[in-house]
Amino acid sequence: MPEILESCPICQNSQLNPFVICQDYTVSQARFSIVQCQNCGFRFTNPRPTEAESGQYYQSENYISHSNTRKGLINQLYQVVRQRALRSKLRLINQLLEPNAAKKILDYGCGTGAFLHTCQQNGWQIAGVEPDAGARSQAQSLTHTPIFSDIFQPEFAQATYSVISLWHVLEHVHQLDRTLEQLKALLAPEGTLLIAVPNSNSQDAQKFGEHWAAYDVPRHLYHFVPETMEKLLAKHQLKLVKYLPMYYDAYYISLLSQKYQKNAVNYFTAFWQGWQSNQWAKRHHNNYSSVIYIIKK
Ligand SMILES: [Zn+2]
Repeated sequence: MPEILESCPICQNSQLNPFVICQDYTVSQARFSIVQCQNCGFRFTNPRPTEAESGQYYQSENYISHSNTRKGLINQLYQVVRQRALRSKLRLINQLLEPNAAKKILDYGCGTGAFLHTCQQNGWQIAGVEPDAGARSQAQSLTHTPIFSDIFQPEFAQATYSVISLWHVLEHVHQLDRTLEQLKALLAPEGTLLIAVPNSNSQDAQKFGEHWAAYDVPRHLYHFVPETMEKLLAKHQLKLVKYLPMYYDAYYISLLSQKYQKNAVNYFTAFWQGWQSNQWAKRHHNNYSSVIYIIKK
């Protein structure tokens, strides 16, 4: 039985309005509602699979963040872009590191470990958490480092990290408050928490509506925008410093959304749509398709 949230996970208000109904195009083909809190505006999938049920919605060859498949042109493009994205993520964490701070990073939801591996090759001490057993074992063989299945294991209790990253992870996490508290405890006093998530106020989200690929129900439980992310962080006494664009996501998400909407792929129009979304965001407070939130204690 799915889990029904009677109140908003951020502000506990019980006035929840329908926002959009979307299909799960990747695994179940089932439809799920997204609601919006009348008080704080937070959007979330409701009802949603329980934590125990959620595993079945990740069982797909198409779920590419858990695989390194190069089958099909979209997957090939994804892998090429991922290589470039890895370099820019590395540049970002090197910039964010305070002078004299230890180069210690925790990647929460590290998937198959590509980002951690890049960090490791560039002098970072790494730690990783990944709930999916298949992805976790790939990450372990790639990095020759034990990867943990969850963040609440006692091994973590004593450690602190200069950078903690969540690359498209927080939107999947059932225990939102408990997880943020634990991440905060693990963050060094001068450390930086980095949370990348899709932005449901972006131009591509508005354009594609229910077909917007980054709703990705029911795997995505929350559909953040900058204002609701800031409220969630404030609730945990965390400070939003700024948020940065993830330019590639607009192209990739437009391509997938178009596929869901028209059951056809046109690389030219998808590219054009992605470009337009990025241009629009530049003029609208960095409301890019996906954004990276830079956070301090
Ligand atoms: Zn609320």
